[in-house]
Amino acid sequence: MTKFIFDLDGTVTKRETLPLISKHFGIQEAIDNLTKETIQGNIPFVESFIRRVYILGKLPINEVAQLLEDVELYKDVTKFISQNFENCVIATGNLECWIKKLAAKIGCCCYCSDGLTENNKVVKLTRILRKENLVKRYKSEGEKVVFIGDGNNDVEAMRAADISIASGLTHMPANSVLSIADYLVFSEEALCRQLNQLL
Ligand SMILES: [Mg+2]
Repeated sequence: MTKFIFDLDGTVTKRETLPLISKHFGIQEAIDNLTKETIQGNIPFVESFIRRVYILGKLPINEVAQLLEDVELYKDVTKFISQNFENCVIATGNLECWIKKLAAKIGCCCYCSDGLTENNKVVKLTRILRKENLVKRYKSEGEKVVFIGDGNNDVEAMRAADISIASGLTHMPANSVLSIADYLVFSEEALCRQLNQLL
C-alpha cells in the first residue's frame, strides 16, 4: 500500500500557523528573532523548537487551539485526505493540544509533538516528532511512502520517503526541499493530480 504523509503548515493549511499565532498574541518580535537565528543556522532545529514551545507554551492552550481550528485549509487536498483517510497521515511538529481540533476537521490520523500541560498552559515538552522516523517506520512495515512538504524540517523525511513532493502552494518551498524533491507543484490541482496518480 501507499502511505501519504503530509506536512501540515502551508501544505494542508493555507497559511503558516506560527506567524498567525505570534501576530494574534503580539509576540512577533520574539518569534521573528528565533526564526531568523534558526534560518541562519545559529540554532539547531531541536533547540529552536524547544525555545519556540517555551515562548508559545505560556499562551492559553484553548485560545491557540481555537485560532488553529479556524485556519483555512486547502479544500481539494483536504478532500483527498478524507477520501483516503486510511492511507493518509499528517506529520507536524506542533503540539497535540494546539492542533487537536484542527486535526479532527481534516479527519485523518495526525502525528505531532507532545507536551505536559497545566492550567491551560504547556509547561514541558515531552516528545518532539521527527518526521523522518515516521517515514522509516512505515517503510519498515512494507509501505511505499509519499511525503508532501515545503519546509526545512521536512527535508529528512522527504529524503527518506520513496517519493517526495515539494508543495509550493503557500510559499516557495525551502531550497533544501527543492534540491531533493521528486516533484514540485504550484497549484492544488497539480498536487491532487499527482496524488491521485500515486494512489
Ligand atoms: Mg510546512
